Amino acid sequence: MHPTLADDLDRLPELLQSARDLATREVTGLADRPVVRLDEMPHRYALPAEGTGAEGALSRFAERWAPGFSGSAGPRYLGFVTGGATPASVAGDWLTSAYDQNVSGSAGSWATALERETVAWLRELFGLGERHSGAFVTGATVSNTVGLAVAREWLGERLGVDVSREGAAALGPVDVLSGSPHSSTAKALSVLGIGRDRLRRLPVLPDNREAVDLAALEDALAGSEGRPAIVVANAGTVNTVDFDDLRAIAALKERHDFWLHVDAAFGGFAALSPAYAHLLDGLDEADSVCVDLHKWLNVPYDAAVQFTRRQDLQVRVFHNASPYLGLPTGEPDFLHLTPENSRRLRALPAWFSLVAYGRAGHREIVERNVALAQRLGDGLAALDGLRLLSPVRLNVVCFTLAERPTPERVDALAQAVASSGEAFLTPTVYAGLPALRAAFSNWRTTEADMERVLATVASAAARVG
Ligand SMILES: *Cc1c(COP(=O)(O)O)cnc(C)c1O
Repeated sequence: MHPTLADDLDRLPELLQSARDLATREVTGLADRPVVRLDEMPHRYALPAEGTGAEGALSRFAERWAPGFSGSAGPRYLGFVTGGATPASVAGDWLTSAYDQNVSGSAGSWATALERETVAWLRELFGLGERHSGAFVTGATVSNTVGLAVAREWLGERLGVDVSREGAAALGPVDVLSGSPHSSTAKALSVLGIGRDRLRRLPVLPDNREAVDLAALEDALAGSEGRPAIVVANAGTVNTVDFDDLRAIAALKERHDFWLHVDAAFGGFAALSPAYAHLLDGLDEADSVCVDLHKWLNVPYDAAVQFTRRQDLQVRVFHNASPYLGLPTGEPDFLHLTPENSRRLRALPAWFSLVAYGRAGHREIVERNVALAQRLGDGLAALDGLRLLSPVRLNVVCFTLAERPTPERVDALAQAVASSGEAFLTPTVYAGLPALRAAFSNWRTTEADMERVLATVASAAARVG
């Protein structure tokens, strides 16, 4: 063994203690550090010929790189839908690395069974029934991709084509219908060989909604002339957190042949609150469902779950068995269910958080985030220079300048907020207007944080004029 490695093995307890000390300093200081870093990054060093040992790596990281990391896990980073990492999930994540299990299969370890237990808990949390099976993937983009891959295989089943063997081209053109799809849906269609252009954006409901117009959806399905289609329903859109009517969409299956995939990346968490669970009514009728965990479950990157009711088709797409072994039977190992073969035990952080805080603890995060979004919305609406572009339906506030919301002026507003170090919001375009979004999904955000964000946006808006 290289002497530096041997030395690190001897000093492992001290090393883990030092890493713990750094993490403690960083995480406890999260609420005070600048929310984003906008200044220049350091230059690259050459590849080290001789190593410094782990303590040396730790101090070099702390010196050169740590000061430039954002406070995106902290309470006033409201860009995208980011979430943070609960204390228990950080502990679980550390142990995931320490144990370094490969959950591709179940041989010789209970780690796979732990992932299955976690998936079953999540299924219950989101109100899905026994018909749905699930697996961990790295994020909602991959979860959408896996769901749509199973949909593609289902189209093959309907048309008498074995897509896994013959390829997507054998299907001919595929219709993918959606009202307000997330950009990752188009990316998934590109990866799957269906093609980005096959995504047809349907009209949405009037009066400032992002939910699909059911009559338009039914027309589009009728226009498919008996060819089976894929419908991507959206449960929580990124700009205004609108929800398609899942129950009504599922009911269209009585008259039309389609696979129903639901992108509930963060909207799925509405299920945790009795006040909002109705938004997901009908979710259990979906053929496949995507839910992100590194957003509103507040576990570290990267984690999402993918549910489907057709595990048999999922195995057709993803099985990794040698050709002469045939398809796996019984409860398939995870390497036959997801794009990866070797897989990190990314269920452990979620398991820790669910055990530590339970349904009640995670419900409190969701309800507090929603209440804060609503109060920020009220506060911004009361300012002269700003206006809301939509009612605050759940955890996102979408707003713009009241006067001349040009791209340059809205960008200046975003820059002024970011450069304050106090908060971070992401730009968007909604209803044709450049706008900003403030998305609440972090377990640490308090009323006082929301007040600081409001004050920051108010003074930035006053400066932009
Ligand atoms: C964030 C998001 C995605 C993509 O998720 P990643 O985890 O970034 O891959 C997909 N759909 C919706 C609705 C999202 O909010």
